[in-house]
Amino acid sequence: MTEEISLELLKSLPKTDLHVHLDGSLRLGTIINLADRYRIKLPANDIAGLSKALVVDDNCNSLVDYLRAFDVTLKVLQTDEALEMAAFELAEDAAQENVRYMEIRFAPILHTNNMMSLEQIINSVVEGLKRAEKIYNIKTGLIICGMRHFNSDVSLMSRRLQDRLSTYNEQELAELLALETAKVAVKMSKKEPKIMGFDLAGAENGYPAKDFYRAFQEIISGHLSITVHAGEAYGPDSMDQAVKYCHAHRIGHGTRLIESKVDDESVPTLYRYFKDKRIPLEVCVTSNIQTRTVNSIQDHPIKKFFEDRLRLTICTDNRLISNITVSDEYYKLVTQLGFKKQDIETLLIYGFESIFLPYEQRKNLLEEVIPEIQQLLYSK
Ligand SMILES: [Zn+2]
Repeated sequence: MTEEISLELLKSLPKTDLHVHLDGSLRLGTIINLADRYRIKLPANDIAGLSKALVVDDNCNSLVDYLRAFDVTLKVLQTDEALEMAAFELAEDAAQENVRYMEIRFAPILHTNNMMSLEQIINSVVEGLKRAEKIYNIKTGLIICGMRHFNSDVSLMSRRLQDRLSTYNEQELAELLALETAKVAVKMSKKEPKIMGFDLAGAENGYPAKDFYRAFQEIISGHLSITVHAGEAYGPDSMDQAVKYCHAHRIGHGTRLIESKVDDESVPTLYRYFKDKRIPLEVCVTSNIQTRTVNSIQDHPIKKFFEDRLRLTICTDNRLISNITVSDEYYKLVTQLGFKKQDIETLLIYGFESIFLPYEQRKNLLEEVIPEIQQLLYSK
């Protein structure tokens, strides 16, 4: 008997999205409105033209192509009202496909062009999330990102910092900014429970996680949760550093963990470490194809990871740039990789088990969604 799993069914199921970038998930119409308000020049001023300029497809040639869109989205995200609106709308969009819990991430340093403080920037996003939660049946959390690489062009604050700290090279400046970001995150988390985690984003290749040891020490001492982008543009060694030096509780992508798998399961490997310790991989299949981490969905190791019972959570990465929802991601697994209802149920539950909420809240949420998931999947 063949099972029918429609996109509609997947949309109706309670879901998580734990790896989603604020600056990669705006609405096209909002970019146009904000650009108009702030007199910012866009590559196109209509939805169709802007979509062509920002949204990539599976023929995207490289990570560079993929990252170009952020130059545009970041330009319109430099005020408190723009950040509040973007956060609200992202949670609203997710709630429309029954995402019940979402962890949004962003790097505050990328929003300092108007010299807003990191606290002000983070607060704006928190406010947007809180406004959405009052209206929709969604819970949200915030992951604050430090950036692996320093680019003086990203903001006025970066340029000024580079001018003032003339003896620091770019790598030292990146490390310093990540440390400052981590300190602000810890300080704010004492009063604002929405701030629950820290991540390292940006260019993975050539910018090893271990260089950011001090930022992660700050986060560990502040008892926040940790996820690290790793195993996307660089191999398993990057993931090894993320657990060894950064104490990662989850990994962003982790696609190339597959390279550490050996035939003999009894041999201790990084692959087995992830499996045994139940460290979740935030899997973003479409993004991985578009950035050429893998060549096609058939080449993606997700099926292997799933069969090996690694803990996975299905995520979008960038909803605007990839033009996807998390329901779309599940639908691809069903239609192109043959995932069945029971597999979808397992993945959904893995998602809720992997969230950074405090234990009781996580448990309550799981108890709320499991009967709903089973009812929707098996009642017909
Ligand atoms: Zn990401």
